[in-house]
Amino acid sequence: MPRVLLITGASRGIGAATALLAAENGWDVAVNYTRDAQAAAQVVQDIRALGRHAHAFQADVGIEADIERLFHSVDKEMGVLSGLVNNAGVLDVAARLDNTSWERWERIMRINVLGSMACAKQAVLRMSTAHGGKGGSIVNVSSAAAKLGAPNLYVDYATSKGAIDTFTVGLAKEVATEGVRVNGVRPGLILTDIHASGGQPERAQQLAHLVPMQRPGTSLEVAQAIVWLLSDAATYVTGSLIDVGGGR
Ligand code: NAP
Repeated sequence: MPRVLLITGASRGIGAATALLAAENGWDVAVNYTRDAQAAAQVVQDIRALGRHAHAFQADVGIEADIERLFHSVDKEMGVLSGLVNNAGVLDVAARLDNTSWERWERIMRINVLGSMACAKQAVLRMSTAHGGKGGSIVNVSSAAAKLGAPNLYVDYATSKGAIDTFTVGLAKEVATEGVRVNGVRPGLILTDIHASGGQPERAQQLAHLVPMQRPGTSLEVAQAIVWLLSDAATYVTGSLIDVGGGR
């Protein structure tokens, strides 16, 4: 029986690596993206080449109506959902708090926090035995920034990831007897395009000296933790936050 996994922000970076690794591990994958349809189509093609089902779904997780449409489309095209990875996340250019705006905070909180909460709500409505579901697993992608605070860079982004950690722990307890496990991963410095969106494309390499392992991580190294948390190898793991940060 194939298992259906929805990954938000799966057109590139950690989301795309997770989509491919999950497919290698027997999941059918719903690939969500916002802007880059071509990149999402490539991920879908790569998953199909592995013999698994995949579809791309455009939706902005910062908009509740988009999220509802996304889940209805996944129901229709892919069948019963049993996994969700809340991966989509944004940061903004490096700045002190006193040089940032309400609009910037609102965008970060809407996509990173409210989007993850609304997706988890839709997943629980489908997976929880209290709602007639057959159980499932949710993994929230947080950040080492939740512990470090990201001063002079993006305290707002770090705050959004702190909220994700608390949300993970609370929701895990709420649905623990309903067949749904909820966990988080906290990636450190990972080689993806997200640093370019913060105005520092070389950031992961430049700050490698701050990492005990003295190197940035790869998307695959984060994906391995996510796919393990989703899997039946982790059936007694819920409310956990796994640091994938090379010791940082
Ligand atoms: P990335 O390379 O910038 O990719 C972001 C993905 O999210 C893309 O697929 C993008 O799709 C999608 N996305 C952006 N806004 C979206 C929205 N509103 N709705 C739906 N999808 C949206 O990012 P990444 O580095 O892989 O990061 C993935 C997650 O890991 C994020 O939550 C990030 O905070 C976290 N993280 C990353 C690092 C790191 O060093 N890279 C460290 C700690 C935590 P389009 O391209 O179609 O817009």
